[in-house]
Amino acid sequence: MPTPRPTVPQLSRNALTVLERRYLMKNTQGRLVETPAQMFHRVAANIAEAERGYRKRVPPARLARSFYDMMAKLEFLPNSPTLMNAGGRLQQLSACFVLPVEDSLESIYETLKHQALIHQSGGGTGFSFSRLRPKDDVVATTHGIASGPVSFMRIFNTSTDVIKQGGTRRGANMGILRVDHPDILEFIQAKRHPQELTNFNISVGVTDAFMQAVARGRDYPLINPRTNKVVRRVSAQMVFDALIEAAWTSGEPGIIFLDQINRTQPTPAVGEIEATNPCGEQPLLPYESCVLGSINLSKFVAGPEQTRHIEYERLAETIRLAVRFLDNVIDMTRFPLEAIAEVTTRNRKIGLGVMGFADLLILLNIPYDSEEALKLGESLMRFVREHAHQASADLARARGVFPNYAKSRLKESGERRRNATVTTIAPTGTISIIADCSAGIEPLYGVSFVRTVMDDVRLATVHPEFLRLARRHGIATDALIREVSQQESIQHLTEIPPDLRRLFVTAHDVSPEHHVKMQATFQKYSDSGVSKTINLPAGASQADVAAAFRLAYHLGCKGLTVFRTGSREKQVLSCANIQ
Ligand code: UDP
Repeated sequence: MPTPRPTVPQLSRNALTVLERRYLMKNTQGRLVETPAQMFHRVAANIAEAERGYRKRVPPARLARSFYDMMAKLEFLPNSPTLMNAGGRLQQLSACFVLPVEDSLESIYETLKHQALIHQSGGGTGFSFSRLRPKDDVVATTHGIASGPVSFMRIFNTSTDVIKQGGTRRGANMGILRVDHPDILEFIQAKRHPQELTNFNISVGVTDAFMQAVARGRDYPLINPRTNKVVRRVSAQMVFDALIEAAWTSGEPGIIFLDQINRTQPTPAVGEIEATNPCGEQPLLPYESCVLGSINLSKFVAGPEQTRHIEYERLAETIRLAVRFLDNVIDMTRFPLEAIAEVTTRNRKIGLGVMGFADLLILLNIPYDSEEALKLGESLMRFVREHAHQASADLARARGVFPNYAKSRLKESGERRRNATVTTIAPTGTISIIADCSAGIEPLYGVSFVRTVMDDVRLATVHPEFLRLARRHGIATDALIREVSQQESIQHLTEIPPDLRRLFVTAHDVSPEHHVKMQATFQKYSDSGVSKTINLPAGASQADVAAAFRLAYHLGCKGLTVFRTGSREKQVLSCANIQ
């Protein structure tokens, strides 16, 4: 039988712009030396090579064809570093890292060096600064006084500016401080000025004890991590109010729920989780890294308009193949540090998620802010997790369980798997542009909108399904399209039929409560976290922000990021301020 022709990638103009700028290999003169199809071949062949390390293997050439097809059809894409570096000089394939910061100059500057190495190779870094002694505390060696976590964060921020990630993108960081650190109020205000800590997303690490103290109107202790002693007691409500006010004003800090993260993490006996990657979806141990990949759900809708349906069988096959792909990536990665290789390969965490969820809903004629969308989100993500876990279990039979398995929670439940975590919802900030679909599980940001990526490139998109339906309704005039292009919401445009307006709700039309519910729905079936922005209208109050935080806590989310329209001058989609 003749081998079927390889798929020719059908890429949008925006996708081509992004690929040419950042992903396609260039020679020393900066000229492109590969096409998008060659890029997918390079990545597919490289990742299929991992099979050679196993006795029970799929022939690498055959597997490479399957990997190529699912990428070239834009059904699945791995995180950016895999696309950029697989089969290249760096071979650093992971997007997410967490590094420890201990309370000594030596540790701080070691970690600063490691941050630079990771950024240089295209990865993003998360840190907890909670172990650093507070500002004005004693420094025995110099008889001086300490400058505190926030001052050290500024050094990490400046260093990020200097090291351009892999020569292609600026580095991204997550900075976390526990809510019981004595410097918590300074930390909460750290990003108040838009020019401060521009390479950081910051989050307060909130505990159950703190949330209970807020609920009961109590004080709670601030603890000096150097001495482990209580420095003073403060009103939980006062700190919560400061946090809400800052988040309302500038979108930062976000919060992460440390106890919920540790209750659900797979290897508590190996270590406590104190931090996440830059966009918050991947809690990791110190020195742990993780590769992400996302399935484009909009590619799994088939059939004529009246009987459109999801092709579950094909989706299951893609999930299976994607899990194998991501497990292979771990074997093919050249880790920037020995310590990272060690921790990462003992848990073998991978993060398979979805993108194009809003597009899928539009194709199925389901408004994003409906109960039906929550129901479908739930059943889809349950399906993804079930099949992804099954694929990881099958890999465990052929390749062995992850080395920390005996010390993990999975052992207690008897689930033998190759990977300590399998599912995650990533922001898909850039890969969704390459796949030309809506980002992650987010609603459309606008029916037509401009994204700023790579600092300066602006990409415009009008949703193709909107165009198609507008033409059918006979309303697709230049004037209307121009009008739609200038609006973040189309709900007030009465010349558009109500059903069409209802279907094309945007992030700004969806209530904060529904945003949180959607995040919580996907969280149920995500082994790690969920990347989601809770958009609030310009007129939202601080009480609305507080309500969103409380709801997220009660629904079992692992963290939350809010964004109020107009609260920050320069808005970048999905990964605020880090692209
Ligand atoms: N990330 C990064 N720099 C960026 C964007 C992302 O280091 O400019 C990392 C970060 O850890 C983030 C993860 O990549 O949480 C996934 O982000 P996203 O899905 O947006 O990345 P993509 O693969 O689409 O580039």
